[in-house]
Amino acid sequence: MAAFWPANAVLLGVLVRWPTLARPFAWCAAAIALVSADLLTGGTWAKATHLSAANLVGVAVGYLLFMRLSPEHRTLRSTQSMVYFLLIVTLASLAVGLAGMFINPRLFGGTPVSGLWFWFTSELVDYLVILPVVLTMPAWQRPRLINRRGSVLQGLAARQLLPVCTLLLGALLTKVFNGPGAIAYLVPGLLWCALSYSLFATAVLILISSAWVLMAVSAGQLHFGADFSAPYALQSFRIAIALIVMGPLTVATVMDARNQLLRQWLHAATHDPLTDCLNRSGFADQAASSLSALRGTDRPAAVLMLDIDHFKMVNDRHGHAIGDQVLAATAAQIARSLRSTDLLGRWGGEEFAILLPNCSPEEALQVAQRICGQCAQQRVPLPGTDTLGITVSIGLASFPTTPESLEAALAQADEALYRAKGQGRNRVAVAPPP
Ligand code: GH3
Ligand code: MG
Ligand code: MG
Repeated sequence: MAAFWPANAVLLGVLVRWPTLARPFAWCAAAIALVSADLLTGGTWAKATHLSAANLVGVAVGYLLFMRLSPEHRTLRSTQSMVYFLLIVTLASLAVGLAGMFINPRLFGGTPVSGLWFWFTSELVDYLVILPVVLTMPAWQRPRLINRRGSVLQGLAARQLLPVCTLLLGALLTKVFNGPGAIAYLVPGLLWCALSYSLFATAVLILISSAWVLMAVSAGQLHFGADFSAPYALQSFRIAIALIVMGPLTVATVMDARNQLLRQWLHAATHDPLTDCLNRSGFADQAASSLSALRGTDRPAAVLMLDIDHFKMVNDRHGHAIGDQVLAATAAQIARSLRSTDLLGRWGGEEFAILLPNCSPEEALQVAQRICGQCAQQRVPLPGTDTLGITVSIGLASFPTTPESLEAALAQADEALYRAKGQGRNRVAVAPPP
């Protein structure tokens, strides 16, 4: 088991990830568990207490240092997080190494230097390969294996399995053509996984590959042409594993930070900051691609243009800030009436565009009337106890089969909207069938 000792890294990871658990009770429970494990596997009382104390010293140093980092760095979500991570696990391993310096001569008859090096290297590799899995583990969600259309594990295209297949090929080559350089055969696969998969998935693959190599070496199945009984040979090998996994792990954290940034930028470029619904260009792009996906299926669709009535008066009487609140509340109210496949965009000022794909003319009229009624019932709080109500006018253009052009459909809905305004507002007007 000492070839791969996950207890310390798992304990440290759990306490860093869920710091509310790090109470005196948890530390005592961990100490009792470590001592019991040693005693149950045949260790003497002296060995069990000394080794467990060394383990806990490392975890405590790591915990105190990790808690000084921001939650973003602690979960390896920033481009610089790996620098802090490496520094902390090195110091935590050094703390265990220093304990080993005293324990090795007393309990195992070795030298202080070999104790320091042995404990330091084993701890470092365990922390490096295990901790990232715990630190980046996503919050638990019920897995959705079946998507809306009913196909199982949608999106798991054969192309997406290529990186992991390369990793398996590397493992096969390591086993068959075993020699001093074979330890690097896993690197291309791990790097490709880091570029393609999530940070957590990469961390899991790094853990599995490293655990396999470490265990296979201890079991004598892989030898890399080395005499692992020579002084410091096994430790140098462990350090090599730790240094090799640093590369893919760093790539995975940088990719994760980059993807997060891209998601934020994409959201900012396609959404309106006040109402958080799509902006004009975001709506136009998504609606056009939704319609082109629908085209050819002979499915119906509808387009709505919605404008808040007498909105200028709201601004003039209550000020721009209240006007903004009314806009945000109206957008939220409309969004609540829509399905997840419908699209809502702020077309400009106090005007919203809505696309209802796969929606018959009768259903679309019901949706439009429901939105109109709910907006009229909504009350926006004013300073003090007063509230403010508004109404909206809606122009609806329905199409029994998917319309050819979004612009033409919106123009028809816009014409209907002007009729709704002319007929007295707070109503839905329907464009004549094309
Ligand atoms: P109608 O019933 O005919 O639509 O009358 P209206 O007053 O709503 O129409 P109009 O288009 O004349 O006025 C729209 C107003 O919306 C003018 C503009 O100051 C205001 N507006 C546009 N964008 C914003 C915004 O982001 N925040 C606020 N508070 N007001 C906005
Ligand atoms: Mg208006
Ligand atoms: Mg307007």
